Amino acid sequence: MHPRLAEDLNSLPELLDAARKLAGEALAGLSERAAAVPPGPAVPAPLPLEGAGGRGALEAFTQRWEPGFAGSAGPRYLGFVTGGATPASLAGDWLTATYDQNPASGMDSSAQDLERETVGWLAELFGLGADHSGAFVTGATMSTVTGLAIAREWLGERAGVRVSDEGNAALGPVTVLSGSPHSSILKALSFLGMGRSALRTVPVLPGREAVDVAKLAEALEALDGPAIVVANAGTVNTVDFDDLRAIAALKQRFDFWLHVDAAFGGFAALSPGYAALVEGLDQADSVVVDLHKWLNVPYDSAVQFTRRRDLQLRVFSNNAAYLGEIGATPDFLHLTPENSRRLRALPAWFSLVAYGRDGHREIVERCVALARDLGTRIDASPHWRLLAPVRLNVVCFAPAAGGDVDALVQAIAEDGTTFLTPTWYDGRPALRAAFSNWRTTAADVERVFGVLERVVG
Ligand SMILES: *Cc1c(COP(=O)(O)O)cnc(C)c1O
Repeated sequence: MHPRLAEDLNSLPELLDAARKLAGEALAGLSERAAAVPPGPAVPAPLPLEGAGGRGALEAFTQRWEPGFAGSAGPRYLGFVTGGATPASLAGDWLTATYDQNPASGMDSSAQDLERETVGWLAELFGLGADHSGAFVTGATMSTVTGLAIAREWLGERAGVRVSDEGNAALGPVTVLSGSPHSSILKALSFLGMGRSALRTVPVLPGREAVDVAKLAEALEALDGPAIVVANAGTVNTVDFDDLRAIAALKQRFDFWLHVDAAFGGFAALSPGYAALVEGLDQADSVVVDLHKWLNVPYDSAVQFTRRRDLQLRVFSNNAAYLGEIGATPDFLHLTPENSRRLRALPAWFSLVAYGRDGHREIVERCVALARDLGTRIDASPHWRLLAPVRLNVVCFAPAAGGDVDALVQAIAEDGTTFLTPTWYDGRPALRAAFSNWRTTAADVERVFGVLERVVG
């Protein structure tokens, strides 16, 4: 054994204690850490030839990289839609790496059954019934890739071809209809070879991001074959929701696959006050929910659900003599793009066991209340204009007098109290503040609003 490895093996508990100490300090300071640390130019170091040992690596990391890390897991990072990590999920994540299970195959460990248990809990949490099965993937984008790949196989079934065997060419051009699709839908279409131009956007309701269902029906009517409909359950700008029940009802008249992007909006199902927003989710053929956003587990974690596991298997099955037969309960490597992968269910399992449905409902409801609080303050300020009602956990707004939104975003990032990302909404540049972190409190909203008033003045 290499001497550095042997040393580290002999002092493994001390190394882990040192890492735990650093983590403890980082977490203790997280609330006051700069939300964003805009990086300067980076100069890569040469490849280490002689190793420094684990303690040396910890030292080098602490000096060279740690100071440039953002407080993105902290309470006032409101950019994109960003969750933190609940205490239990963090412990679960550490243990994921510690045990280093590969849940791709169920021949050697109980890890797959833990993932199945967790997926079942999540299905229940989001109001999905027994017809939906699921698996963990790295994020909502890969969940969409998985869902749309199954959708494509379904289109093939309708056309009498097996796309998984014969390829996209055998199917020909595909039509995907959506009102306000997330950019990852286009990425998935490109990646899957269906092409970005397969997407046809359908008009939205006046002043909304939700699709006009009558216009969607017209678009379906005008087609001469089956299509894929991507419904959006929580748009990133204004958290608008398509009417899932009305869209699902169109299935009685038209032949389409219903894919629902509920990356963070799916969490509305946890609260009796907001669950109506995702009524009809259970009718979807494939469903996307991110877990590293509003479940507050560490990156990278999302779940995908579908009602057509048979088609999923056709797309993703990874047959090899040494892997054995695919039985009634397929191993996960036959269900998602990855073969080998980490047991990313474990952090979610920890958080669900630790806080339950009730604890996670509290996070959702608090985030919504805080977003509404900020929305009310912005609405009352002469310096800002609220661009849409705060429907759930995102505030979309712009400077009342116009002005350079990018410069404001930059000034906010440099201040470090909070971090917001820019967008384009209703024909004008805007800012978004997205609340999805379990740590955020009313005092944080107060501080965020103070910064906003300062930078705009
Ligand atoms: C974040 C998000 C995605 C992409 O999620 P990743 O986890 O970054 O892959 C897709 N759709 C919506 C609505 C999102 O909010």
